[in-house]
Amino acid sequence: MPRRTKILATLGPGSSDDYSIRELIIAGVNVFRLNFSHGSAEEHTQRAQAIRSIGNQLKTPVGILCDMQGPKIRIGSFADDKRIQLNEGSTFTLDSQLNSELGNEDSVFIAQELLEDIEQTDILLLDDGRLTLQVSVKTDHSVSCTVVQGGVLSSKKGVNKFGGGLSANALTEKDKADIKTAAALNTDYLAISFVQSATDIEETRSLLTAAGSDAHIIAKVERAEAITEELLPGIIESADGVMVARGDLGVEIGDANLVAVQKQLIEAANAANKVVITATQMMESMISAPTPTRAEVFDVANAVLDGTDAVMLSAETAVGQYPVETVKAMARVIEGAEKHPLAQRSKHRMHQTFQRIDESLALSAMYVANHLQGVKAVICMTETGFTPLLMSRITSSLPIYAMAQKLGTCEITALYKGVVPVPFDTSNLDPSEVNHCAVEKLREYDAVTDGDLVLITKGDFVNVHGGTNTLKIVRVGDTIR
Ligand code: PGA
Ligand code: MN
Repeated sequence: MPRRTKILATLGPGSSDDYSIRELIIAGVNVFRLNFSHGSAEEHTQRAQAIRSIGNQLKTPVGILCDMQGPKIRIGSFADDKRIQLNEGSTFTLDSQLNSELGNEDSVFIAQELLEDIEQTDILLLDDGRLTLQVSVKTDHSVSCTVVQGGVLSSKKGVNKFGGGLSANALTEKDKADIKTAAALNTDYLAISFVQSATDIEETRSLLTAAGSDAHIIAKVERAEAITEELLPGIIESADGVMVARGDLGVEIGDANLVAVQKQLIEAANAANKVVITATQMMESMISAPTPTRAEVFDVANAVLDGTDAVMLSAETAVGQYPVETVKAMARVIEGAEKHPLAQRSKHRMHQTFQRIDESLALSAMYVANHLQGVKAVICMTETGFTPLLMSRITSSLPIYAMAQKLGTCEITALYKGVVPVPFDTSNLDPSEVNHCAVEKLREYDAVTDGDLVLITKGDFVNVHGGTNTLKIVRVGDTIR
């Protein structure tokens, strides 16, 4: 039984050579994240080429997600890139008139636009919440703060405001240039950081279109504003998927609120037929240790049981000492979690009605798959990957084989839980042979033997989006037309 929940791993300096990429794919990476907060356009383009050519050698379609930096709001640098120690009770100033390279024990540079959003009573969190500052005095170019939670601070660390509200557009000039790079390297997914509203997604979509890309857009939910009732539904609707970006989100809303928000976001995305990624610190201790903590085991497992499509690795695979071991451990934990009934049994959409024929058919197929004894696999002939997306919203223990002509479609479906992407070229097949060949293809995946039942969904025409209108139930070994 193939693993259903997918692994999204970030490439970085420690893992981008061909050997590492190959080992990571073999260990179980389904989609790679190219993190545009670091590295040059050339580096990302080379990484994408390496992923595709190694994926091709291994006959495994692997997706690519380009993650835009966004307006990560940062302090300036310290002189000589020194690390400084901030002690509880001392005063520390953020000042837009200071040289941005010359911070010291007393003060550091911050951009004036950011300063405008900070009020006299605000609490600021530095370095993903490791340090806490209480603003005490505000002038027109600086805020002086009392250190509430001290620690070591180094150059260019992020700044968040507790409760959210540091504005700045989601798309920076750098992001706009990076979107062109991502389009040129033919990315499957594009993730937008610090999304504030559906408008950010729409703007991204038009930039991608202008650059000739139809990449699917992932909205990173990491701002307090983004999870409000007014804004969240629009964000989910306009994006193709969401990321529970727990790093920044946890800083903005407080860690205690994260648990409920993760569960709500995963449920909302599934209900809206969108893909969902759970991210950050899932295997954090494995940056420097070869085995995960029990808490990490349960974190990954709980995200699986919540119904996430994918779990993400950041520093663990980008700069960690044990990238391959981390992916292996994650895959092992996912497979363990997927043995739980919660991960296998669907809570049917009893109270929903459907507008679309393909959606009705996809869900009927999953109903049959989950209830008819002897079914071992679902074959979904797909042009764009939309039908397997719909199917994979339904909890099941059966694998969905997305058979697609286009490699790009295979790469997109690599992120969907329970979906195995299968490159399947029907161009030289007579229509009467297609079903037979599709079932035979499953034997290459050790998915079926004679006597097993298989479901096949397809449309009347190949290469047409949204045309799925047929469900067929066949027995392996019989004459199949
Ligand atoms: P990042 O996003 O790793 O790009 O910051 C994920 C998060 O904030 O959790
Ligand atoms: Mn983030």
